[in-house]
Amino acid sequence: MPPPDNVMEKLVSLAKRRGFVFQSSEIYGGLGSVWDYGPLGVELKKNIKERWWRSMVHEREDIEGLDAAILMHPKVWEASGHVAGFTDPLVDCKHCKNRFRADDPRIKGTPGEPTAQCPVCGSKGTLTAPRLFNLMFKTFIGPVEEAAAIVYLRPETAQGIYVNYLNVLQSARQKIPFGVAQIGKAFRNEITPGNFIFRTREFEQMEMQFFVKPGTDLEWFEFWREQRMKWLAGLGIRPEKLRWHQHTKEELAHYAKDAYDIQYQFPFGWQEFEGIHNRSNFDLSRHQEYSGKKLEYLDPATNERYIPYVVETSAGADRTALVVMADAYHEEDVEGEKRVVMRLLPSLAPLKAAVFPLVNKDGMPELARRIFDDLHKSYNAFYDDGGSIGRRYRRQDEAGTPFGITIDGQSTQDGTVTVRDRDSLRQERVAADRLTGYVADKLKG
Ligand code: ATP
Repeated sequence: MPPPDNVMEKLVSLAKRRGFVFQSSEIYGGLGSVWDYGPLGVELKKNIKERWWRSMVHEREDIEGLDAAILMHPKVWEASGHVAGFTDPLVDCKHCKNRFRADDPRIKGTPGEPTAQCPVCGSKGTLTAPRLFNLMFKTFIGPVEEAAAIVYLRPETAQGIYVNYLNVLQSARQKIPFGVAQIGKAFRNEITPGNFIFRTREFEQMEMQFFVKPGTDLEWFEFWREQRMKWLAGLGIRPEKLRWHQHTKEELAHYAKDAYDIQYQFPFGWQEFEGIHNRSNFDLSRHQEYSGKKLEYLDPATNERYIPYVVETSAGADRTALVVMADAYHEEDVEGEKRVVMRLLPSLAPLKAAVFPLVNKDGMPELARRIFDDLHKSYNAFYDDGGSIGRRYRRQDEAGTPFGITIDGQSTQDGTVTVRDRDSLRQERVAADRLTGYVADKLKG
């Protein structure tokens, strides 16, 4: 494997070359820490989100789905604590105008003092003392840009769930314990963004809030920790690259009873990409207080009234996609030649199969087209007749396509094709009319 920094560079360049991820507005020089998903990236992220949705919503009777709006009543963010507390202390360089988090390890000295040095331009004494900066994006609702019209782009999807918890409970006829799951965009005006799609200003979250009776929260917290790790193992991520990080007293939000991050060993170090939090009844209590609406649950069995506790599982779809891509990236020598291969779990791979006529003559393209049209009805597949067969394989290895199907001279005689396995490089002859079933079998899991 190449050195770690290099791996990120290579991954970013592969992502662009193959159409996983592009820089936003690239022709204008790009927009800081905003990224676009290309033809392969959109499929990969969609496959991750669908798998999450299936396991959270479709396979569970006690979880319902929701798609709340990005814009919400501004009081939501007062109640949640984001208006007052969702801040980072920041430092500006008066010389080069760059902005840093006050705890940026590259800063030498104490910001605000004459000896402190800017990590970008190197000037001394130009860094301001730290100032608090709110991470929420503001905009205005309606035609007048005035303070009364301010709304925020949501910095997390969870609040849309809290304010709808009673609507969902009643309309879906759920009882506590039950959960609400949501996938959607969130926005944070991050100051030290970077590391590709790891920390971006616009991203997607996959969040599930599980409402439980106070006193049962510890059990549910353990349950969801276990479930989430199992789910990640199912994505094929190497277990030795995953670990738990329990929040220390300093890291723990004042209302939270306990919180664990799931970290992945990225090329730039161990970092969180999902959190499981025991949030107590903080969120619902605050919304009850700020809205003046009762958010209690009346237990039909015991006639008790209480504000439920919340156990939350909160994952970033983009960070999970980065975990999947970083884990899949492999370089290896094959018969003296370097090959780059994305060993994606076949069910997550953007393309399931690629179809290649060995040469563009002797009836091969016609047969290959027919096979492709047939496969395409069931799977996202790719037809490629450009360049040598070796180059076509290499492009699909980089795309993470699990099966390469080649139509050769023998195919036109006996109706069989060769199927090349992306990982083992083994080739098998398979009857063309059995291909859809063959791929289906291999995609299980
Ligand atoms: P960090 O400490 O990295 O900023 P956080 O603790 O603020 O993350 P949460 O608020 O717990 O993150 O958000 C839950 C999940 O949402 C994170 O684990 C991550 O996967 C995702 N996420 C949060 N902020 C971003 C971001 N700026 N870009 C991409 N994903 C993000």
